[in-house]
Amino acid sequence: MEVFSAYRKIETLVEKYDGKVVEWRRAIHSHPELSTQEEKTAALVVDVLTGLGMEVRKNVGGHGVVGLLKGTKPGSGKVVGLRADMDALPMQEETGLPFASVVPGVMHACGHDTHTAMLLGTACVLSELAEELEGSVKFIFQPAEELNPTGGAPGMIEAGALENPRVDALFALHVWPGFETGTVITRPGPLMGASDRIFLRVSGKTSHGSAPHQGIDAIMIAAQIVVGLQTIVSRTVAPLDSAVVSIGTISGGYRYNVIADKVEMEGTVRTLNPATQDRLPGLIERAAQGYARALGGDASVEYVRGYPPTLNAPELFRLASETAAGSLGEERLVVLDNPDLGGEDFSFFARERPSLMAWLGCRPAGKPPAEMAVLHNTRFDPDEACFPWGMRFLASCAIDFLRR
Ligand code: MN
Repeated sequence: MEVFSAYRKIETLVEKYDGKVVEWRRAIHSHPELSTQEEKTAALVVDVLTGLGMEVRKNVGGHGVVGLLKGTKPGSGKVVGLRADMDALPMQEETGLPFASVVPGVMHACGHDTHTAMLLGTACVLSELAEELEGSVKFIFQPAEELNPTGGAPGMIEAGALENPRVDALFALHVWPGFETGTVITRPGPLMGASDRIFLRVSGKTSHGSAPHQGIDAIMIAAQIVVGLQTIVSRTVAPLDSAVVSIGTISGGYRYNVIADKVEMEGTVRTLNPATQDRLPGLIERAAQGYARALGGDASVEYVRGYPPTLNAPELFRLASETAAGSLGEERLVVLDNPDLGGEDFSFFARERPSLMAWLGCRPAGKPPAEMAVLHNTRFDPDEACFPWGMRFLASCAIDFLRR
């Protein structure tokens, strides 16, 4: 059948380019660049895409790059977007790899080097398959994925990355160390959570620690708020919906025998359902102020909305599942029961157009999960043997989406 012959051509071409992809990945890995500073990485991307004869736009919303590949097969005329992120994290690498970061305190600890290299490889593969493409493929390389709450995607969207020609749907991959190399993991609906940030300020009045009745104890109020916020999750969010409110920092007080008049706290709020995300700022403010006033003090909340939930379009989930089964083999597809509450700024693209994100397993076969460093760990070391599977998945999804 026609579709299987396309998968076979992809497989052969992926083999041809895999060595190049490993080379690019290692070059990017050893020269990581922080969010909004992805100049050299973007230059490499521009070089490769230009070399393929693509129309290339650079500096799209910062260091973003967009390459356009036009198919030659008559058919749907649709446009599919494939997206990778390019930025690294402010961490000191401890992998001991021969191609470890040469930039002190900067590391590709979230695998964005692998995403960029795999998408470049996919661009090479699809460039040789223009006669199989019933439309166009846009290769979107985004900056600043780690820059929560802003992210790099909104800037690219504003700069027109999804227009001229208009992108109909998008696909993206993220390497995932919890799953074995070469598996593709996804689900319909929410895949990853919304990630917001809160700043709380509590005010009271100082007095001697031996005479609390003469002051207003901001630490007591803060303690009530920390506990009380948990009842928002347990009492006002529906039991089968999900939310997390976590206070990560707390500071206040002067001395062991002084009642504190100020406490500051910061925390994170994670949700899956946009309607729940909308309700939480009001609920948190009501709770904080209520507990503070009950004890004679006051509290204020600054709620900073970050990335929306990453929602996979059901029709693209169906397409990607069939494609993965057909192209990679049914045994490589993992459909998750539950989403993950980590944030991902691909969600901004997914809010604009039907989208699908999948995770790509990168834990070497036989390595116990407990020994595999997680994302954002200084020893994170994804298995490069996952690259061919990632490229085959992206290239097959692009061809299949344009075919329908
Ligand atoms: Mn990431």
